[in-house]
Amino acid sequence: MTFDFDVIIIGAGVIGAAISDELTKNKYKVAIFEKNLRVAQETSEGNSGIIHGGFDPTPGKLNATLNLQGRKIYEKSWFKELNFPWAKVDSLVLAFSKEEMLEVEKLYKRGLTNGVSENELKVLTKEQVMKCEPNVNPNIVGALLCTASYVVDPVLLTQSLINRALKHKAQLFLNHEVISIESLTSGFKISCRTTNNKEISFTCQYVINAAGHYAAEMANMIGCHDFTLKTRRGQYCILEKTERNIINNHVLFMVPTIHGKGVIVAPMTDGHILVGPTAIDNVAKNETRIITVDDIKYIDKIGLRLIPSLNMNKTCKVTSGSRPICVNTDDFVIASASNNKNFINVAGIKSPGLSAAPAIALLVTKLLK
Ligand SMILES: Cc1cc2nc3c(=O)[nH]c(=O)nc-3n(C[C@H](O)[C@H](O)[C@H](O)COP(=O)(O)OP(=O)(O)OC[C@H]3O[C@@H](n4cnc5c(N)ncnc54)[C@H](O)[C@@H]3O)c2cc1C
Repeated sequence: MTFDFDVIIIGAGVIGAAISDELTKNKYKVAIFEKNLRVAQETSEGNSGIIHGGFDPTPGKLNATLNLQGRKIYEKSWFKELNFPWAKVDSLVLAFSKEEMLEVEKLYKRGLTNGVSENELKVLTKEQVMKCEPNVNPNIVGALLCTASYVVDPVLLTQSLINRALKHKAQLFLNHEVISIESLTSGFKISCRTTNNKEISFTCQYVINAAGHYAAEMANMIGCHDFTLKTRRGQYCILEKTERNIINNHVLFMVPTIHGKGVIVAPMTDGHILVGPTAIDNVAKNETRIITVDDIKYIDKIGLRLIPSLNMNKTCKVTSGSRPICVNTDDFVIASASNNKNFINVAGIKSPGLSAAPAIALLVTKLLK
């Protein structure tokens, strides 16, 4: 049988984009279906944009391994080869008590276990922190410094990956929502709908399911029920560029094991300051990008705790996104469907998915081969 495409990728977030880039480099004939009118309009837009050093994920989890590998691929090739805004910005995990300082020391050890090198991690005293970031809350007792982190513009990164895939002959179908998937004797028939209710079908040999929060629905269409996902929405306030000088060149974190993962004040690549995110579980899938007034009040509190002189009245934008969490494993799901080896699920891609994206693309290509 001849197929329209070797591979159809569902979803043009950063993960679908990274996979399309890698597969086209390997000469696969690829199509990407995205229901939105532009790429990276869901989780890949509403995130902190940090390429994490790799000290935080639980050792032994797939997301810990792929975080490290992914970060190294950014350093070795993506920052050099792709055209998107990025900056090297060190991370400081601030401890506000002796108890939190013990967690900082645990994070240091965890980082080494995950493969972060000794010269990329350092436990700092309060004095050392205040010297490099004088506006930080003076009530801190110390911090973990990681010198292997970066900030990126995740939307322009996604676009840049898609551009390279298109150069290598991928086809991008925006405004194409996958509404059914049929397993054929060999391969698949995929039907899509556009906003003006046009329906169109294509065949392919392999499917890569990178549909973010809708990955379980896509898998269910071929009778695969290997995983369940839940939502965890995070909201942010973005401060005007006039506030940029409030931090030098660090992402300021609260201790993740105590305050929830990824709570930050961070410089953005375009000169704004990002404050957030919150973490609200089980929001409706069509409300993953909603902003609530209560959450904005909570973000104000986070910001002022990290930097008491932060002027939250200079908020010029708010944004949000939701982490898709695999309920079964709390880890990435990157595997063929148990009932069809030609259908590869790339699901539960919570944080550090952006950091891990290059390594996820390599792993999927390996699975396909
Ligand atoms: C608050 C927050 C902070 C984060 N911070 C970081 C961070 O600092 N560093 C980090 O490494 N990671 C971070 N992450 C995680 C990172 O953002 C995600 O891992 C990554 O964006 C996931 O990308 P994705 O392509 O899998 O999902 P998405 O970006 O959601 O892409 C899935 C795409 O599939 C499309 N789609 C869905 N259903 C269909 C359908 N039926 N037909 C066609 N298309 C469909 C959607 O429209 C969407 O574009 C954070 C996440 C959140 C929410």
